[in-house]
Amino acid sequence: MSTDPRHAAAIASLLGDGARVITHRQTVEQLSRDFYWYSPVLRKQLDGKVGDLVVQPVNAREIQDVLRYCHANDLAVTARGAGTGNYGQAVPLHGGVVLDLARMDRIEEIQADGVAVCEPGVRLGVLENEARKVDWELRCYPSTIVKASLGGFLGGGSGGIGSVAHGNLRDFQTVRAIEAVTMEAEPRVVLHQGEAVHDILHAWGTNGIATRIWLALTPAVEWSQCAIAFDTFDAAFDFSERIANDPSWTKRLVTTFEWPIPSFFTPVKQCTREGKALVFFLVATAQCEALETAARKSGGDVTYSGPYLGLRARPLLSDYTWNHTTLWAIGADEAYTYLQCAFHPGTVREQMRRLKERFGQEILFHMEFWKAGDGQMIPGAIPLVYYTTEERLNEMISFCREIGVFVANPHVNNVEGGGRYRSDNVQLLAKQRYDPKGLLNPGKMITFKPEALTR
Ligand SMILES: Cc1cc2nc3c(=O)[nH]c(=O)nc-3n(C[C@H](O)[C@H](O)[C@H](O)COP(=O)(O)OP(=O)(O)OC[C@H]3O[C@@H](n4cnc5c(N)ncnc54)[C@H](O)[C@@H]3O)c2cc1C
Repeated sequence: MSTDPRHAAAIASLLGDGARVITHRQTVEQLSRDFYWYSPVLRKQLDGKVGDLVVQPVNAREIQDVLRYCHANDLAVTARGAGTGNYGQAVPLHGGVVLDLARMDRIEEIQADGVAVCEPGVRLGVLENEARKVDWELRCYPSTIVKASLGGFLGGGSGGIGSVAHGNLRDFQTVRAIEAVTMEAEPRVVLHQGEAVHDILHAWGTNGIATRIWLALTPAVEWSQCAIAFDTFDAAFDFSERIANDPSWTKRLVTTFEWPIPSFFTPVKQCTREGKALVFFLVATAQCEALETAARKSGGDVTYSGPYLGLRARPLLSDYTWNHTTLWAIGADEAYTYLQCAFHPGTVREQMRRLKERFGQEILFHMEFWKAGDGQMIPGAIPLVYYTTEERLNEMISFCREIGVFVANPHVNNVEGGGRYRSDNVQLLAKQRYDPKGLLNPGKMITFKPEALTR
């Protein structure tokens, strides 16, 4: 441990429980990592970055105590949910305390109006299962739902399954309120409601530790899964775009893959067809047959259809969508990495054509639709990129931007560069208010100039 070993003893005595202060090197290393290795660029930057100790609080009062101590001793604090982020968001750059929130995992209440009140460490899969018992479900969730925490989703995620109907996490007042602890000489618990939630949302834990979250749910639907193969990517995209855009379809997932992406999905080989593009759907069971009929009329081959039996369903098609697609690709060939893009609804085909013309098989299309805050259906994408050099990757990003494709760059390790930083600077302003010394996840909000970092 590079930090003074007395810090661990002092924090243990504050908590009155030494077992929740971990200095065992291997465990600290494990809890300092996330999925940053998805990016060959971040891998080089973040390998070997590690905290000095892990602290596992069980309530907001303990977090206040720990933050008061760290403030007084100029110790960095990096919040951690489940560590499934894929941009090094939860990797401490300056050592210090890793604040592991996994023990704060209570669902306090699911209110009659469908708002869940939760602690940050609750796993999204647990929340989804509990919500469904009382006829609600998550509006949107990452494909890492089983492991990922609610606090981590708010801190570092954006959207996922469900976003085609309900938008991303920051849209449609899905996050109703967040209580967060500040990093000041006397840490406060501050309630952010309405627009003020955007101060804390997607700030990577740089400006407050979320301790209580009010999350709006949506009425539960009986879902079915459906996989449809098409001879060409164009036909698959036309069909999926039509279903995504038509509000009469009740859907939770519309994902389109160019071949050879489906060839990476070995556990669900039976849903794929050699050489063909593939679309995965989650649709209301009541509409599943109609969807199959519509797909056949458009030249589709229904390769799988069946009821969705919750997160333990096998196959679970969502396990191959959103950023899981990248994971399967890396499993097949380590040279694959990815981008996160939003195409223009009106010119998406022309944009894709130009990308193919310039980069050929170096870019493989994996499309995910989501509803924007203004109601527009966005043809989003997490395309696979066959990585050769950082220069070539940057060339692709520049070209995307040149032709009007928005890129949330997953190969940078700061909030501002990642594409979801607010142009009204509310996250930065909150950091200036709540963390004037710059001790929360230091180095990740680069427009903030820290004064008191010790290393
Ligand atoms: C295979 C794979 C698929 C993925 N798919 C998606 C997807 O579909 N959609 C998506 O949005 N993301 C996706 N992700 C990214 C990630 O899984 C999600 O964003 C997830 O919700 C993060 O939750 P976590 O608990 O693992 O957070 P962590 O990785 O632990 O933390 C994420 C960030 O939030 C901060 N944080 C954690 N808890 C708090 C808190 N209480 N208060 C303040 N800050 C906090 C951390 O400091 C960190 O900066 C994927 C990642 C992988 C590896």
